[in-house]
Amino acid sequence: MTYASTRGTVSGVQFSEAVLKGIAPDGGLFIPEEPVRFDSLEIATMSEMNYKDLAKTIFSRYATDFTEEELDTCVEHAYGSESAFPETVAPLSFVTDTLSVLELWHGPTSAFKDMALQILPEFMSVALKKHPREDGKARQIAILTATSGDTGKAALEGFKDVDGIRIMVFYPENGVSEMQKYQMITQEGSNVRVMAVRGNFDDAQTGVKKIFTDDALNQEFNARGFELSSANSINIGRLLPQIVYYYYAYFTLVRNEKVKLGTKVNFVVPTGNFGNILACYYAMKSGLPVNRIICATNDNCVVSDFINTGTYDANRPFNLTISPAMDILVSSNLERLLYHASGENVKMIGKIMDELKTAGVYSVDRKTLANISTVFWADSGTETETMETIRSVYKEDQYLIDPHTAVGLNVYDKYVISTGDMTQAVAVSTASPFKFNKSVLQAVSEDTLKEMTEFEMLTVLSEKTGCAIPTPLTGLDQKPVLHSGVCDVEKMRDAVSDFLK
Ligand SMILES: *Cc1c(COP(=O)(O)O)cnc(C)c1O
Repeated sequence: MTYASTRGTVSGVQFSEAVLKGIAPDGGLFIPEEPVRFDSLEIATMSEMNYKDLAKTIFSRYATDFTEEELDTCVEHAYGSESAFPETVAPLSFVTDTLSVLELWHGPTSAFKDMALQILPEFMSVALKKHPREDGKARQIAILTATSGDTGKAALEGFKDVDGIRIMVFYPENGVSEMQKYQMITQEGSNVRVMAVRGNFDDAQTGVKKIFTDDALNQEFNARGFELSSANSINIGRLLPQIVYYYYAYFTLVRNEKVKLGTKVNFVVPTGNFGNILACYYAMKSGLPVNRIICATNDNCVVSDFINTGTYDANRPFNLTISPAMDILVSSNLERLLYHASGENVKMIGKIMDELKTAGVYSVDRKTLANISTVFWADSGTETETMETIRSVYKEDQYLIDPHTAVGLNVYDKYVISTGDMTQAVAVSTASPFKFNKSVLQAVSEDTLKEMTEFEMLTVLSEKTGCAIPTPLTGLDQKPVLHSGVCDVEKMRDAVSDFLK
């Protein structure tokens, strides 16, 4: 298997190279050059596997330059007995007769990004060894990230103590929640550093981008043996692990006699940067029996509008919502879907991505849109609807969900009302309700909330609902603070330089 760019000028790239590069040199995203297809016999065999074996089987078709032993090690480190995950990794909760919820938040940071960020560093570490530097020096990657909260922590947990990699995370000093801050400043690991920035998220993000584009600085780091890299969600090494849990969820349904092997099901995915839902599409293309993929967005409904109209228009206000991980105007992974749905029309992709950059808007032709509409159905949920969904699902089904998951379930209701389709459905749950405990507590609580810290709310929510607080979130405020550094935006480059000594 090799990888090519969605923009058409790069091809024949090995998986390990694509993982190290992240983005293709022409600005496009890496896509598999050969279709992967599991036949019904293979699917029957896969249906009996545990999560780790299933992951290895799927990876072996995409990461063909990794040996079996290498894949084994990667998977064992990420999802094995030493990991934070339970043995099932991604358990399914049967909420109603026709609807199950796939819980992707049993990893070390209690949110879905762990599913991919626990294994991407393992892929990178193997890839580094396959591509040594020409001058014979040990190759080292330095991951730099600015975070508005959750991604930074998930990256830190994934990259901590991984061979050949260091990671530095910047967060806005007053722009993250108390719990998010504690998750980061108590971060352990010999290769990590966390620094607060005096400014907002955009300032921190701009600061990081400046470091990435500073040629002289990059040369200096290079001379010290370091290459800067990011770990964002367009990396093919983040997409691949997400395919696995769609198969796993389906096989869990089969094992519990909710569907017969081969019967199609619907998936509902709360969507932001389109990574999670694209993995569902890849699962379907490779043989998973899928009927409809339901795309759920919040008030930042640029993607669902696109699926319904064929026009992607980022010229609109940016809304801060209670499902912040889906607050987005430019949804990067959509480019991969456009590539497949347009019949691999790389010229068109290059053109519309230019239009997006310069004008903030593009439209696709009717055929491409029709190809998308036969698979995807999309709508959005408002803030009020999201809160109402948390309340009603808790009351009627005794199941506690976070705001991101609630957006998905709200849109699923709309889907059923609009189409009458009662096909077995799996809704993807992307965060533990305890991770966004303020909104969740507000939704399920009859009495008005008194002044409480987020840490107190954890206990109150747990007592009220009888649900256990996830281990990664307990005792956080008692852990030793290991990262107390604060810097100005202008000093971020010095902070990185100091870290990469
Ligand atoms: C990142 C994230 C999403 C959005 O996933 P995409 O792959 O970006 O579409 C949804 N919910 C949570 C909790 C997330 O962290």
